[in-house]
Amino acid sequence: MLDEVICFRVTRFCNARCGFCLAPSDGSHPDTSTLTARIDWLLANGVRTVHFCGGEPTIHPGLADLIQHVHAQGGRTRLTTNGIVLPGAVLSVLKLRRTSVKVSIHGAREYHDQMVGCTAFDQTSENLRRMAADGIDVSVQTTVVSGGEHVVPWMASYCIRMGIRKLSILPFIPRGSGYQRRGEYELTQGERQALRDLVKQTRKAYGSRLDVRWLDFTARPVLVMEADGRVLLEGSTEGFDKAVSVNLV
Ligand code: SF4
Repeated sequence: MLDEVICFRVTRFCNARCGFCLAPSDGSHPDTSTLTARIDWLLANGVRTVHFCGGEPTIHPGLADLIQHVHAQGGRTRLTTNGIVLPGAVLSVLKLRRTSVKVSIHGAREYHDQMVGCTAFDQTSENLRRMAADGIDVSVQTTVVSGGEHVVPWMASYCIRMGIRKLSILPFIPRGSGYQRRGEYELTQGERQALRDLVKQTRKAYGSRLDVRWLDFTARPVLVMEADGRVLLEGSTEGFDKAVSVNLV
């Protein structure tokens, strides 16, 4: 049996080009019926919560139906998105199904756009505002690379301005595109410790107004269904990945 929660890569396509992307495009973009069959297989094998991720899940035309399908089978859903697009059908189903959403924002406008490789900040902020206004359980996550520690206080104050109550800080890991950029982006041991301390201080400073969390993907492997149908325990680099099962769907 699998863990109760799985990161379900809907697609490896994306409308952004982050230099630290954990799962850059490899050409995998399965159709909705294939993804539906995979969800049925996961739910039959112990999964209870399907965490839609990518690539960018909101660019898949079947996302709203897939979320509905999980709930129709008795499961729960989460979504991680860059928030650049948010189709009305997806917004409605997130609200209806009380899906928890994490939106990736990496700093102020110019810095964010530079990190994601396209003009995105204003669209993402607007879609974050739409979700918050609709009462969706939405939080923000921020990847921090070497030299980018200054974003932590900025992101905390941004979350307060936007009415967001939870901020997760993700230290860079050298996976996917990040492996090629590790010379530029990797945090030294000292930077990593300083960032961790800054997260603790920020958490203390904001108290109950903002839940500031340290989310380190090197801490433990993450169960993932890849867009090509493989189920893996993903480590901090591809070299630490372990195959769990081959899904033949
Ligand atoms: S990190 Fe997310 S938003 Fe950025 S390129 Fe990768 S999948 Fe797209």
